[in-house]
Amino acid sequence: EAKTRGRGRHAFFDVDLLERTQRRLQLEQDLRQAPRTDQLWVAYQPIVDLRTGRTTMVEGLLRWTHPRYGAIPPIEFIGLAEESDLINVVGVHMLRKATGEILDLRADHNPDLGLTVNLSARQLDDPHLVTAVREALRTTGLPPNDLCLEITESALMRDPTIAARTLAALRDLGVRLAIDDFGTGYSSLAQLLTLPLDTLKIDQSFTAGLGKSDDAEAIVTSIIAMAHAVDLTVVAEGVEHALQLDILRRLGCDQAQGYHLGRPSAQPDLDRVF
Ligand code: C2E
Ligand code: MG
Ligand code: MG
Ligand code: MG
Repeated sequence: EAKTRGRGRHAFFDVDLLERTQRRLQLEQDLRQAPRTDQLWVAYQPIVDLRTGRTTMVEGLLRWTHPRYGAIPPIEFIGLAEESDLINVVGVHMLRKATGEILDLRADHNPDLGLTVNLSARQLDDPHLVTAVREALRTTGLPPNDLCLEITESALMRDPTIAARTLAALRDLGVRLAIDDFGTGYSSLAQLLTLPLDTLKIDQSFTAGLGKSDDAEAIVTSIIAMAHAVDLTVVAEGVEHALQLDILRRLGCDQAQGYHLGRPSAQPDLDRVF
């Protein structure tokens, strides 16, 4: 009896695995075609200056609406793309699209609105990345200083030598550079600070603790102090409540982003003042 049940459970697991494998293969195949369709689009999330309460930039977040599976979470399809060279194609597509669309948002809302875009670890190894960024700036006329590129702490630490070289080349174009999800990796702080960064984004897990735990506030306080000591602009991610915003303002955080300030959207609300 136990044996039957055991086998049953096993079979169930295998069906599940098979389905997931099939979905994966299908998605990988479809993602290859996606840049030639209108399935990939960009959602823009406001980033608010905590002194003025105004939106000064937006983060472009890639979205994939699959004809059969619907909205695929970026964690899933970016992860898939990162396992092959597909991430370079998708990444360049995203960069072109977002740098083009930011011009419309600037015309309609704020002529100085900045754009920040995520880069994957693998894109840092791509010899064509710097050319692609230069081309996107040239084609759109977006001032380089109004474009920021975000790289996660773990991506930077995957191969610090290559990362440092690519960041220096990007910096030479005049774009700004941010470290994303700060606090989630296990990097050497001394090593991170040798990179030519402009901005540090505090991971949302720390923001979530604000107002709930004194430890979270102490950690955020020290991240801000450390970042300001080396002239980095600090952005807090994942602000979901007004109380978190108050605390961040009191702690001297420069900018904030989160559902409380605006959700990522194709038509973000950029005119509200907080
Ligand atoms: P990320 O760069 O750290 O982006 C912030 C993520 O937090 C976004 O998730 C955003 O929707 C979400 N978020 C914003 N405010 C809040 C909040 O108040 N509460 C909570 N719980 N979440 C909030 P999303 O759009 O699902 O993207 C997830 C990750 O996928 C991004 O994290 C980024 O690492 C990656 N990603 C998205 N677009 C791209 C892209 O074009 N290229 C690359 N390489 N990665 C991308
Ligand atoms: Mg980001
Ligand atoms: Mg982040
Ligand atoms: Mg994140």
